[in-house]
Amino acid sequence: MDSDPANSEEPQTVSIELAVSGRKLKLQLSLSTKPAKLTDLLPTLRALSDALGGAALAAAEATGEKLSCRQKCAACCRHLVALEETEARRLAALVEEIEEPWRSKIKARFRSALQEVEAAGLLPRYREMEKVAKADFLPFALEYFARRIPCPFLEDESCLIYEERPFVCRQYLAVSPAENCNTMTLETAHKVKSLNLHTDVPGALSKVERDLAPHPRKRIPMLMALEWAAAQPEETSTRSELDLMHAFFSELCEETAAENPPDSSTAAPESSLL
Ligand code: SF4
Repeated sequence: MDSDPANSEEPQTVSIELAVSGRKLKLQLSLSTKPAKLTDLLPTLRALSDALGGAALAAAEATGEKLSCRQKCAACCRHLVALEETEARRLAALVEEIEEPWRSKIKARFRSALQEVEAAGLLPRYREMEKVAKADFLPFALEYFARRIPCPFLEDESCLIYEERPFVCRQYLAVSPAENCNTMTLETAHKVKSLNLHTDVPGALSKVERDLAPHPRKRIPMLMALEWAAAQPEETSTRSELDLMHAFFSELCEETAAENPPDSSTAAPESSLL
């Protein structure tokens, strides 16, 4: 990084180059040197996640794969959705920004969906998903999907918060036939193939969350987000947007390099903050 944020209150322009799936992505970000919250980073991280998804898709299409996601197909909106803590905070704030009567309607949907989860006997595992053993997670997730509980933001098979939808929703890009997502069971789960993104934006965000306030990783189930956020203290940070973003990109490259070792067939992303 060429800039010297300590000597300047002005936003710093940062150039980033990422190589993903053999394709280069060049970004220029204007980042503030004043203290920022992780939730402030979300618009940039969402745009990055979308750009990385686009690059991975272009590479996959070059080998004959095709995206089967289409408008009004909302099979994935009945799956179990988990959020990073920063996303859960923003989601709760977003619900408060929604005008009436939709705000009350959506809150009521959260409550009734949770009641359905409870009635199905899934609540203890849903509340503490991180305690579900790895081998038991897929059966649990499919038990949840079998109830076909719609996400509170699903309206007429479309997402009411599309621009702000969580990372997991942005990253679920199916390249197997759409009907496979809709009919997914333990026996047929192997037929569902989603695009390999080669990068883990929410994973890197989560690492930064833990650097700021060390604690075990906990992902927040979508239906618990409002309750979880209400119980958390206000987000505080003494680090600047520039500093937080630098930490994020370091984690992104580390995470991706770990998932794609040098001798793997997948090109690991490289990034440079210039
Ligand atoms: S947030 Fe939107 S895209 Fe994600 S599950 Fe809910 S309705 Fe679907």
